[in-house]
Amino acid sequence: MALNVFSDPEVRKFLNQQHVASTLNELERRLQSPPRYTILRVNQIQISTEDALEKMSEALIKNANPNDFKVSVHPKISEAIILESLKLDNDIQIPSDSKEVIVDKFCGAAVLRGANIFAVGVLGAPNHLSRNDKVAVYVDLQCKCLKGSTQDFKGPKLFVGNGTSVMSRHEIFKTEKPVGVAIKMTETSSGCPSMNELELTGNFMLQNLPSIQVGRVLAPDPGDFVLDMCAAPGGKTMHLADLVSPSGLVFALDKSQPKIDQIVGNSLRMGAKNVRAFVMDGRKAVEPASPGNGSDLNSNSTPPFSPGSFHKVLLDAPCSALGQRPQFVNPMGLQELHSYPKLQKQLFHSAYQLLSPKGHLVYSTCTFNVKENEEIVAWALQTFPDLRLSPSPVILGRPGRLVSGLKPQDLAQMQRFDMESSGDCNQDTIGFFIVRFTRKPMP
Ligand code: SAM
Repeated sequence: MALNVFSDPEVRKFLNQQHVASTLNELERRLQSPPRYTILRVNQIQISTEDALEKMSEALIKNANPNDFKVSVHPKISEAIILESLKLDNDIQIPSDSKEVIVDKFCGAAVLRGANIFAVGVLGAPNHLSRNDKVAVYVDLQCKCLKGSTQDFKGPKLFVGNGTSVMSRHEIFKTEKPVGVAIKMTETSSGCPSMNELELTGNFMLQNLPSIQVGRVLAPDPGDFVLDMCAAPGGKTMHLADLVSPSGLVFALDKSQPKIDQIVGNSLRMGAKNVRAFVMDGRKAVEPASPGNGSDLNSNSTPPFSPGSFHKVLLDAPCSALGQRPQFVNPMGLQELHSYPKLQKQLFHSAYQLLSPKGHLVYSTCTFNVKENEEIVAWALQTFPDLRLSPSPVILGRPGRLVSGLKPQDLAQMQRFDMESSGDCNQDTIGFFIVRFTRKPMP
């Protein structure tokens, strides 16, 4: 693909200096390609990994050519099933009688990772589109297609796959916020088969490997009460709920009701009865007037919580999300990029206060930006003298980068995922960062 991912010249200059890949072009090449591996996390609340493997093989026989994939269980994470695409260049033909449908960039990226097309992601479709038509799906690469367009789209576009319409054009555009699947994908240019039906059973969740690794790094025990401070849409919340079940609980916070609705929807789908979700700004999640030893926490507790309430805290922080793959265009400016560390530090203050002595706090982001990763770690170690880095029980990523305030021996305690597109499933994944802290015991 010839277009640059990043359009802002200052962002391009900044990223060039981060040296994540040998050149900025190489970084953009990695970002534009979907990972070769699709990961499904088995919801062990509902099904064993063995039974899940069987269901997955049945789905592959139904929806794809099973010879195009290698299916295995991750050697270190037994709840992660790896689907490796063996067809490196999936050169699919566009049927001559198919109709062109244009989707937005988020929808296009999701299609390449195994999603069907929800009506809300469709931008353009011809007037004569009916149910059960063959469609060729293209992504609008520069956000130029007007919603509801019926014209042949002439702007830069990328073919992502073939599908069948489940809704007519009228059904797709009759309301401003249409609900449901509009197009079922039959084949994608990435070779990734549609996984939506498997997900709907509640037995699986499509997740990137580093996101699953977050739960393994926090490593709560069954029965633990865990705080997930920035939880929506709830992928990690569901994993944590699985790890602490049946008697443990996950308190999941996010900033708005629609976000909480996503978590509740996922909990219902996955049968996770041990999630308590609350609209709460994480920065206000600490009870101000509480004497604070956290001993009053129980299953009916609501935020704000007393200081020291949780032995396990996850801060999966809002971030620049530069590590998302595939991404086609990213219009982010330098001001927005530099706005995240301030919010991350404010949220970290709350996460720290809610952590009990000897407790574990995991900080993670889906960006490769050192200012939101290693520099936050250096700041945290300096700001909170009773925090120290804690080794992760499972290592999948590469060590962190050396920045001012960190020692060389600190780096092995961090895990960085830099989207190495020729790597194994641990590295050919999205850009991500994970670190675990522990709070020293009371003197
Ligand atoms: N952990 C989530 C998962 O695995 O599905 C993804 C979390 S996403 C990286 C960051 C989340 O932080 C967003 O859902 C966003 O709404 C939330 N957020 C942003 N500011 C927040 C705040 N002040 N308090 C709580 N949540 C916030």
